[in-house]
Amino acid sequence: MKLCTGTMMATAIIYSAGDAQATSPDEIYSTYETYDGQDLELTVDNSGTHFTIWSPKAEAAKVLIYDSGRNSTPIQTIGMNKSEHGTWRASVPGQLYGKFYTFQIKYDGKWLDETPGVWAKAVGINGKRAAIIDFANTNPEGWDSDKGPELKNINDAVLYEMHHRDFSVHPNSGIANKGKFLALTEQGTTNTFGDKTGIDHLKELGITHVHILPSYDYNSVDETQLPSNQYNWGYDPYNYNAPEGSYSTNPSDPSTRIKEMKEMVKSLHDAGIGVVMDVVYNHTAQNDDSNFSLTAPGYYYRHREDGSYSDASGCGNETASERQQMRDYIINSVKYWAEEYHIDGFRFDLMAIHDTTTMNEVAKTLKEINPNIFVYGEGWTAGDSPLPVGQRALKDNVSAIPDIAVFSDDIRDAIKGHYTDESDRGFATGKPGLEETVKIGIVGATNHPQVDYSKGNNSKKPYANSPKQVINYVSCHDDLTLTDKLAKSLPEDDIKARQRAAKLAQTIVFTSQGTPFMFAGEEVFRDKKGVHNSYKSPDSINAIDWNMKHENADLFNYYKELIKLRKSHPAFRMTSSEDVAKNLVFDDVKGESGLISYSLKNNANGDVWKEIKVVFNGSDGPKYIKIPKANWIVVAEDGQLDAEGLGESKGGRLMVAPRSALILGREK
Ligand code: CA
Repeated sequence: MKLCTGTMMATAIIYSAGDAQATSPDEIYSTYETYDGQDLELTVDNSGTHFTIWSPKAEAAKVLIYDSGRNSTPIQTIGMNKSEHGTWRASVPGQLYGKFYTFQIKYDGKWLDETPGVWAKAVGINGKRAAIIDFANTNPEGWDSDKGPELKNINDAVLYEMHHRDFSVHPNSGIANKGKFLALTEQGTTNTFGDKTGIDHLKELGITHVHILPSYDYNSVDETQLPSNQYNWGYDPYNYNAPEGSYSTNPSDPSTRIKEMKEMVKSLHDAGIGVVMDVVYNHTAQNDDSNFSLTAPGYYYRHREDGSYSDASGCGNETASERQQMRDYIINSVKYWAEEYHIDGFRFDLMAIHDTTTMNEVAKTLKEINPNIFVYGEGWTAGDSPLPVGQRALKDNVSAIPDIAVFSDDIRDAIKGHYTDESDRGFATGKPGLEETVKIGIVGATNHPQVDYSKGNNSKKPYANSPKQVINYVSCHDDLTLTDKLAKSLPEDDIKARQRAAKLAQTIVFTSQGTPFMFAGEEVFRDKKGVHNSYKSPDSINAIDWNMKHENADLFNYYKELIKLRKSHPAFRMTSSEDVAKNLVFDDVKGESGLISYSLKNNANGDVWKEIKVVFNGSDGPKYIKIPKANWIVVAEDGQLDAEGLGESKGGRLMVAPRSALILGREK
């Protein structure tokens, strides 16, 4: 889910005059010749500079060459020749490094507006013109040997979702390159109390991957007006294959944003941290004016029967991944980011707008490049789509996309309360009746003999083939932060009481089967002043005040130990539903509300611990549980957690403090 910016035009260019007899857009577009060559739209070699645009229905096409990224007239205009498979081509002698270009096509008797094309890999300011640069000069030192962390399975990852600006822009970040890619290259930064910030903070916390909000060139932030306080999440794609300019130190120099994004990746990789990109191929910022529309009008989008744009994205349009040229585009685009920028994972926005065939090809292509790369996405749409439900990459269809994971809204809403109702409570805030839905989350939405899916709040079936197909989380950039949700749903509680609930909520996420995911800054109790849709809110709402790390050191320490616990114990990271069904055993708590208790048995997944006992008490009173007699190590109790152990227990009847987790492990 995400929110959009910009005004959307309701009209659509679909039919050209010659298509009058055709009965549907799909029939028209299925007749287009497609082109899967890797030389779209610019190549430079010893023989010169070559331009190729795919535009099967163009009546004419031209390239305009410029000296600068904006505010200048073309120094050369070159007519393109119709070529094979719907392409148009033109070449000029010489390597035009340093120049800019746009395409223009004639369609239905009219010259459309200029466009940088859909394959611009370098762009000028605000992405209006594509740029000709030598990519060999954009690589940081050591780039050839650069690689991300090795990962056996996706659920070995700990995902940390962050926005460049949120993360570094606050004065207390101690970071010089505020709101920039380079923020993540700065070592030794601290808040005003001397606590680590920036990349050092990430290392200290122990996350394995940052998931960065859109970092391709998006439309909303005016790159000529930096550094005014402009903010956007970036779910308004403009140039899919070039980095966003406002995150660079010089948006008007096309190489700078590329170099700096690579430096960021390299720096994170050197710290052992992978980089996941949030990709938004499901819609574009504009309709008739988008780069897709200006090169192949209508083709890349789905339409309603009346010819208008269909809108499963809630942003005015939706793309058509089932069409060959669009499918190839998505696949080649992620491939490009993986190869050129060494990206380690991809998070697909509104993934269910895409079809399952495309998503399977995406996963396969990426695994061939690097088996450590993983893919996950939102298994839903934001509105109805002409794409048949059975073909959508939905959460309910995730078994048909076996190498891809989906977000579990089941565990999210069950833990903290429903996302649309601010005051609604969840299991971790004392609401009864959600135990079975939390259990669906604990088993990673796999088939488990002790979980009754008919009692699930969202899903009514075990949708995941294995726990590797589920991303568990309690909050993300969308909706209220966990801090704000707790403030709205526990208005009578003080900060310390709310932090107990936060600890319990995240303990459920990080001990569950599946891949844990957290929103940046929640480890220091960041809030967004109650703003649930902060996509264009100012820094005063979105920036993380890193001095909160000092004020909430106890909470930060808990998160750090929780991550360490998960990473030290493979029992939390089982890879098959069979293993989960066999080794994860729920205790019979006789229907007591607010209480969940289970064991991870049999040295699950090669764990050094024979058994791990995990008990959650979401209620505001103490609960009692019988633990078998043994020599237990207590890891979590009464709002405290130490991965190495807080103390020992012989078992027996133990008290589970209100709104807290009790976790014990035994070797024998
Ligand atoms: Ca931009």
